[in-house]
Amino acid sequence: MSFSDIPPKMKALVLEAPGKYSVRWVDTPKPGPYEVLVRVRAVAICGSDPLLLTGKFAGGKYPLFYPMIPGHEWAGEIVALGPGVTEFKIGDRVAGEAHKGCGLCNMCKKGRYNLCENFGNMEKGHRWYGFIANGAYAQYQVYHVKAIHKIPDTMSFEEGAMVDTTAIALHGLKRAGVPPGGTVVIIGPGPVGLCALQCAKALGAGRVIVVGRGHGGRSNRMKVARELGGELVDVEIEDPVSRVLELTNGKGADLVVECSGSEEACSWTVNMVRKGGSIVLIGNYKKPVNYLMSKVVFDEITIYGSRGNPNASDEAINLIASGKINVKKLITHVFPLDEFAKALETFVKRLEGAIKVIVKP
Ligand SMILES: [Zn+2]
Ligand SMILES: [Zn+2]
Repeated sequence: MSFSDIPPKMKALVLEAPGKYSVRWVDTPKPGPYEVLVRVRAVAICGSDPLLLTGKFAGGKYPLFYPMIPGHEWAGEIVALGPGVTEFKIGDRVAGEAHKGCGLCNMCKKGRYNLCENFGNMEKGHRWYGFIANGAYAQYQVYHVKAIHKIPDTMSFEEGAMVDTTAIALHGLKRAGVPPGGTVVIIGPGPVGLCALQCAKALGAGRVIVVGRGHGGRSNRMKVARELGGELVDVEIEDPVSRVLELTNGKGADLVVECSGSEEACSWTVNMVRKGGSIVLIGNYKKPVNYLMSKVVFDEITIYGSRGNPNASDEAINLIASGKINVKKLITHVFPLDEFAKALETFVKRLEGAIKVIVKP
């Protein structure tokens, strides 16, 4: 495929203003230096997308401009190369990464480009695709070579769209380190939690306890968590802290991973982790969380924040490709881009046991 074969117009989900979005025709973008043009084949709806679409993400701070195209969990194939690209070739199948640092600041120099000091500064080269730069709910999109990763031919585009979520969980676990043979608690069996459960097992955890809502055994998420080898704690029928202590001979877990984003659940973490243990927070908390910090001091507990998924996509791809992480089990629905509204409703209302919903442009 050469440039001349690429249609000048493409279909995209365009956000015009908070709460106002539709699938319509827009100009197909052209790749700049060190960028590629990708034919997007699959995009997974993220929990942040409904917030972004209604102007509620990060207190309405993002996006920075309208109209914009959201979507950041995607896979597709390269159809054109911008000037200077030698890292990829046309036809390469790739999965995307949302964060691309400026490459100039101290955080970027340390490899911590998710914390780029020029965050939101497009002129400095920073990108946060699907949030403050156009993203993947489109037939085509341009991406910098730093924000794409090759996926093997054996991996479907739907699985490729799950690389982002898997890498989010993996980055959190890498921050704290999974204790070999140890006990890990995952709070919140959503897509990130179910990936964290599998990552913890792949990285050598001996036991994984999953804390979630069981809805009297009707919760599809808890069912999947059990099938993936998790021991279940149902907050609707038991006190999560006492139950975790009971399951660990009164000592608590070596590592607690909070993926639910609930302030209440966050306050449980310090009381279910063992002395000298670690906590990773991957949730997005809107209100302050109350707990006595003395527990953290006297038990020498380490708390890690975890943002995005820097330097974790290639490893996530290996874990999925080798079968150590099963993302197919989390994909419950697939819709064409034209049916975005239906796809979003299915995801938000968790219709028909929806866990991860994929959109195909
Ligand atoms: Zn996401
Ligand atoms: Zn930077």
